[in-house]
Parts: sequence; C-alpha cells; structure tokens
Amino acid sequence: MPVPREPPSLNDEVTLSRYPFLPQAAEWIRNMAQKHEINLEELLDGEWMEKARQRARIRLIDSVQSKEGVEVVGGDIHTEEGRLIEAFSFYYARLVVCASEDERLIARWSQAEAARAEQILAKDDNNLESIAKTYITGIKFEDKKDESYDFSTGSMAMQNVKQKKEGKVWKINLVDFIEICPKITGSRWRLANNDIQDGWITLFEEQQYTSSEKLSRLLRERIKASIETEALEKMAEVTTDLAIRLAEPVGMVRNLMANKASEAIALVGADESDWPPCMITVVSDLAKGVNVNHFGRVFLGAMAATLAIPRESCVNFFSGAPDFSEGTTTYQVNHLYDNAYTPAKCSSLKVNHNCPVLPGDDRLCDQPWLDHPLKYIRATQRWKAKNKAAEEKFEAEVSKDDSKPVTVEKD
Ligand code: SF4
Repeated sequence: MPVPREPPSLNDEVTLSRYPFLPQAAEWIRNMAQKHEINLEELLDGEWMEKARQRARIRLIDSVQSKEGVEVVGGDIHTEEGRLIEAFSFYYARLVVCASEDERLIARWSQAEAARAEQILAKDDNNLESIAKTYITGIKFEDKKDESYDFSTGSMAMQNVKQKKEGKVWKINLVDFIEICPKITGSRWRLANNDIQDGWITLFEEQQYTSSEKLSRLLRERIKASIETEALEKMAEVTTDLAIRLAEPVGMVRNLMANKASEAIALVGADESDWPPCMITVVSDLAKGVNVNHFGRVFLGAMAATLAIPRESCVNFFSGAPDFSEGTTTYQVNHLYDNAYTPAKCSSLKVNHNCPVLPGDDRLCDQPWLDHPLKYIRATQRWKAKNKAAEEKFEAEVSKDDSKPVTVEKD
C-alpha cells in the first residue's frame, strides 16, 4: 500500500527536531529558518550554524563507521538552540551527501539515519503511533492482554511467552507487510512464519523483541526509502557552486568510505588480487552499506567457502550491510560452509545483476572460455605461477653464470 497521503499532524518541536526527516517537520524547520535568519550562506559558513555543521560531521562519520547508524545522543533538544542544531545538522549532512553525487553514499547515509530513528522509536511510546501512521497505511494496535501465544510456527522455534500487561501489540496490513519485508533478513519476517487473520499480521511480542521494536524495524525500511528518495531528488538540484563549497566535507566522507572498503578487502590477505571483479564488487558494496541482493550474498559466501577464507572473515564481509546482524549472518555463513555450495556461474551472475563488467572492461572476463568466476581465479593463479617459475629460472641461470670461473683468453 502506498505511504499515507495525509500524515497525522505533529506539532511538538522536540519530536520534530528528533525526527527532522518527517514530512511534518518541513514547515517547522522553514519557520525556524525564517525566525533565526538561517539561509544557505549561514548554514554553509555562518558562525551561528557552526555547531550544526559539527553535529552533521558526526552524523556523517557515524553513517560510514557505525554499524548501529547515527549516534542517538545529540544535543539537548529541550532548548531551542539544541533543537535548531539537531534539525539543521540533518539538513547540512543531507546537503553534503547530495553534493557528493554518490548514490551509494546517499543510500548509506539514509540507512544510518533510519537506523537511528528505529532505535529511538522503539522506546518512544508517545510518538510511535503518529510516526507509524505517517509511513504505513495499514497499521493498528490492540492493548496487551495477560495471555500467552504459541509462536512455534514454521521453522521458527520460539517459546510461549506471556504478554506484558501494559503497552500495545501492533498489527500491520498484509499488503504493507509484503511490501516492506523482502528487504529484511530473518525468518520472523517471512510470510509463512506469520499468523494472518482477515488480512492483518500481528507483530507478536517475543521475549527479546517487543511488538514496538518490530514495528520500529518495519518503519526503518520506509523511513530509509523516504530519506533516500528525497536526497536523490535534491541531488539533481546541486549547483556547481554548491558542490565546490562543500568539497571539503564531501572529501572527508568519501575518504572514510574508501577506507572502509579497502579494510574489508584487506581482511583476507594478499590473495584478493586474484579475485574476479564480481567478487570484489560484492565485498566493496557491502562495506559501503549497499544492500547487495540475496543472490550476490550467497555467491560471496560460497566463494569464500570455496577459497577457504576463514568463516569470521566471511562474516566480516557483511558487517557493513544495512541489515547486518552478527547472529543471523554467522548462522547463514556456517550453513554455506557446511554444505559446500558451488558458487554461481557467470551467466547466473549476469542475469541477477551481479556481474559488473562490460565487454572490454576486463581482459580475462572477455575470454570466451570464462564462464565461471572460479576459472578467473585459476587463470590468474596459473599466470602468476608461470611468471614466478620463469623468474626463478632466469635468476638461477644468472647465478649459474655468475659462479662460472672467468676465463681470460690468451692472444
Ligand atoms: S564475467 Fe564472470 S568472472 Fe567476470 S565479473 Fe562477470 S561474473 Fe565475474
């Protein structure tokens, strides 16, 4: 179902500054900008907005470096100055990512901001309903009752748990659930493992995962999509002048992204120079927070298993993924290693959009016999071994010549 056209009204300034991406926050921020004479000039270089720019840098650094997303703790939003800093830091950070014109960075940043929102929303009983109704059309709740539910459905092995007496048990419309869940990993988000009644799915309480936390997880996906879409639209409006003025913070965040990617690749030692472009791309995309598709993920796990890369290193490849959960990833990696899956061949990778090369990009990939990424590695290794043997032979011959007695020819 589409996102609601008319979001519920929200006027509390603390809430609007805490969630500055909300559509309801736009007017409040415009009014604050007018009241305090904050224009683009002030935001980019003014003294008054220096604190907002500093907080924006932290938001951007967290986006790249933190698995949990942007740090929840910001300034004191119970003061007007604190609210301004929080709201305009979001706007400044968005300007920087838009000026980078890097869609991966925009995706990463949107993900980090949405992850921050998820953490706050899970505990924000006062605003969860309004924000849920901003992003999800089919959402309702029942008050928790003191009764137990049997969750032992499908492949999920959960224990019966008692509902707590207070709070809400959320229900989401089947259509919204189906639209949101494919992007979330974990068996609890698969339709077959859920109880559907009259087109509604109940987000049952679990011992370690409350109904509100589940709803916040679903909201994260919609919030991410909304922040990302808006940023991509704004990217088209970035002028050359603005891009030049933001070159320094853009450079800072781009460097962070590049370091993150090379850190991940360097994890398994020197042999990554043998890897085919498809494997390198999946690893570096994951490190940059790009949501690699399921096929690409299974391919990477199967390649890592075949190359005997340590399991922990393989789990680490996924640590930058937007939906990374160490427990789930370890389980899935172990499954791939234990079952020794054969990595996908080139034709399947091409069909599933996981082959990054075009004709002429890579000499080996252009070869008519190259139909499997493992052949790429084998060919590279053989070529290196041949070169090494030739070098050793040459060195041996040189040293043999050097050890021969020098004969002086007589006239
Ligand atoms: S042609 Fe094959 S080996 Fe080369 S990048 Fe594409 S999928 Fe990988």
